Amino acid sequence: MKLPLTGGCQCGALRYEIRAEPLSVYVCHCTECQRQSGAAFGMSLMVPRPALIYVRGTPRRWKRKADSGRSIESDMCEVCGVRPVNHPSANDKISVVKPGTLDDTSWLHPVGHIWTRSAQPWVTIADGSVIHDGHPADVSGLIEAWKKHRATMRD
Ligand SMILES: [Zn+2]
Ligand SMILES: [Zn+2]
Repeated sequence: MKLPLTGGCQCGALRYEIRAEPLSVYVCHCTECQRQSGAAFGMSLMVPRPALIYVRGTPRRWKRKADSGRSIESDMCEVCGVRPVNHPSANDKISVVKPGTLDDTSWLHPVGHIWTRSAQPWVTIADGSVIHDGHPADVSGLIEAWKKHRATMRD
């Protein structure tokens, strides 16, 4: 994993860089992530908000209410519709990148699972994962678990 991390939308009109160490990687099983991904769950890469810089294109902003009742703003590519980044209103210090939009996804390793109450029944969760059955009131467990995992990574 090398900084800056680079990524973008599916058509390439939006390109971003993440210029600081990510804070956590986890899986979200909420129904909104299932709908957005069109799949069984979404992955989340928590980053310090100022570290996320668009280097090509300007995203359209789209606001919605989350399952938690809070509002979330998303960055959307106007051309292909991919939404690579969410900005939760509950915590303005972080942004949450959909890490499948990174150019290099090889180092992604989820340390936690949130909204497990709406997880698909066939999903297996690895032993030792940080688990929240809904929205985590406190994300420090996810951040601590990532720090521990990060220490085992080569770079
Ligand atoms: Zn696009
Ligand atoms: Zn979710």
